[in-house]
Amino acid sequence: MTINLKATEAKVRENRLSSITAYKGSVKDMVQKAGGCGLKGGERCFTQTTSCSLGCAQGQLVMIQDAAVVGHSAIGCGSDTIQSNINKRRGHFSREWELTDINYINTNMTEEATVFGGKAKLREGVREAYRRFNPKAIFVTTSCVSGIIGEDVSGILSELEQEIPVPLVPVHCEGFRSRLWASGFDAAFHAILSYIVKPAEKKRPELVNIINFAGIGRAQVTRLLNRIGLVPQFIVQFTTLDQLSRLSEAAATLSFCGTLGSYLATGLEEHFGVPYIKSLQPHGIAGTDSWLRELGRVLGKEDEVEALIAEEKAAIAQELAELQTKLNGKRVVIGMGPSFAQNYTRLLDELGMDVVWTASWHFDQRHDYGEVPAAAQDLSEWDKDIPVSVSELQIFEIINLLRELKPDVYVCRHPGMAIWAAKLGIPAIFVSDEYQSFGYQGIISFGSRIADALANPTFVRYLASKIKLPYTNWWLEQDAFKYLDEAAPSSKVRSKEVI
Ligand code: SF4
Repeated sequence: MTINLKATEAKVRENRLSSITAYKGSVKDMVQKAGGCGLKGGERCFTQTTSCSLGCAQGQLVMIQDAAVVGHSAIGCGSDTIQSNINKRRGHFSREWELTDINYINTNMTEEATVFGGKAKLREGVREAYRRFNPKAIFVTTSCVSGIIGEDVSGILSELEQEIPVPLVPVHCEGFRSRLWASGFDAAFHAILSYIVKPAEKKRPELVNIINFAGIGRAQVTRLLNRIGLVPQFIVQFTTLDQLSRLSEAAATLSFCGTLGSYLATGLEEHFGVPYIKSLQPHGIAGTDSWLRELGRVLGKEDEVEALIAEEKAAIAQELAELQTKLNGKRVVIGMGPSFAQNYTRLLDELGMDVVWTASWHFDQRHDYGEVPAAAQDLSEWDKDIPVSVSELQIFEIINLLRELKPDVYVCRHPGMAIWAAKLGIPAIFVSDEYQSFGYQGIISFGSRIADALANPTFVRYLASKIKLPYTNWWLEQDAFKYLDEAAPSSKVRSKEVI
């Protein structure tokens, strides 16, 4: 087994999946080396700040409807929860639920707690979370400060068990432990697998777990799966603890994002006997084919799936051909997390576009089930080779890359990225909702969105004409990867230049 639920915490991705955050080359080279264990991540001697794993862990856990989260950290580490609160309200709005805020308390660790320990603050925070929210479980997320001082979070929670009659769950997600914010997903899911999920009392052969983010476009998945006699259960956000405790009842688990789903889906397979559907993700034609076909194979529904695929494809064939004509040869740069970046490279190629660069924010050399991610493997088997780079969302690199490549459009998936392309006069598509290109209809709606953006770039061109970038001319003339040392130097050299 690769997922050890007896351990108090999930191993970080660098150690578990040999994940890297620094690389420049091509997808064939990257995947070939990853398959042969020969891919060594590089280093940068200059990096901008980026996200951390604590934010990813909290972002999942605060969305569980009847749980509370206590962040044992400095108050600033809780700032991500502002976005989580927006996400929660947006999710409630889309479900026509009453708008409510997240159940979150921060222990506000200060210098005093750093020197003398934060035990009292943590106790107070857990008690207050129970009093204020009346939750059915309380997750306690750790941070750099609590980790560095060696706070015994598990021990403190054990002491409180007699007093507070709901599961008190430590979540080890200190930001300094991993360069990959995605390690925070694993920390949250390790806590859920270890403390919340129970063995199935009965199996539900119609039920399929769908690991996704906000689930805004879930009606489309429901429509497709209902047609082959299946019922989706969207996890983890917006579920209840009771639902999570019964994830083991499902017949299979599908994921919208290989990066997000790897740990939870593999854990459900290894420890609770729920098969993980290891396929491409359902963005575009080939991805949706692969997602549905592998599900059909595992559940013995091959014929129903083939009939469904044929009908759905026939329904979009003409519109797809028209879009391919419109978008043919348009040059695109992608900047996304690894699973989306790889899957969107394939999707945009299906639309007839020329993917001239794919930047991803890390690269997992394998997923938890032991293989190179299916989407990366697929790209590496194409005739053409796609130039790729890996960074922890280093915008200063992307700026120079976009200036050099001058694509017709930039496709990205993280807040704050699209605006930089727009400031350069390049139309940018921000994929906020993971369902934007889901399934066969999704490729039509997403392709149409790109066609619209290309049809009228006046706004971004006007914006670019009025904007002064905050970079020096010196930096703007440098190679985008000036600070990337692919040889992974043993000692870091600090940058003296001002970019
Ligand atoms: S956990 Fe560490 S890296 Fe993350 S926000 Fe707090 S101090 Fe920063």
